Amino acid sequence: MSPSDEIDSYITELASAVDFDRVGFCPAADLEVNPLVREACAADRCQQYGRNWVCPPACASLDDYSEQFAARERVAVVQTVGVLEDEYDFEGMMAADKLHNQRFLALVEKLRLEHPDDDRFIFLAAGACTICPQCTYPEEPCRFPKKALVSMEASGLVVSEVCEKAALPYYDGPGTVTYSACVVY
Ligand code: SF4
Repeated sequence: MSPSDEIDSYITELASAVDFDRVGFCPAADLEVNPLVREACAADRCQQYGRNWVCPPACASLDDYSEQFAARERVAVVQTVGVLEDEYDFEGMMAADKLHNQRFLALVEKLRLEHPDDDRFIFLAAGACTICPQCTYPEEPCRFPKKALVSMEASGLVVSEVCEKAALPYYDGPGTVTYSACVVY
């Protein structure tokens, strides 16, 4: 088994231990940083632009992310699939979002605990950080810098494209919501 295969299988075990519904892998060379994603951030559709330490413009630049991705080998995409009562089931969507973020934080903590000196892992979450009811940006420093994770979108990735590269669905069809996050290493 190659070193990459070993880490893939290790992350598969971790993802299963924290109850993710799916995990898929692709080469880090498949990651493409797309400036259009940053433009969508700047359009402020999710109302986090300029309001959160892990979102633009506070997070690293797209050039920084491109450089970091180019220095890594693999990507593990993890997913949570929520079942909704109907397409207006916002509570169901929020519950699945919360569960996904809890699972991802648990995976991050395990990886950091078991590899404290390994700085190759880049953790990219789903959406802006919502740990605090009100982010301290920009007046005060981040309250939990080790827990606050940049999103896949803020790093310039098109989530649907990364899912496709990892041979995972981006959407599971009517009555469901799918959240994705990834680890680049
Ligand atoms: S942990 Fe709190 S202060 Fe830090 S980015 Fe998240 S919401 Fe903002």
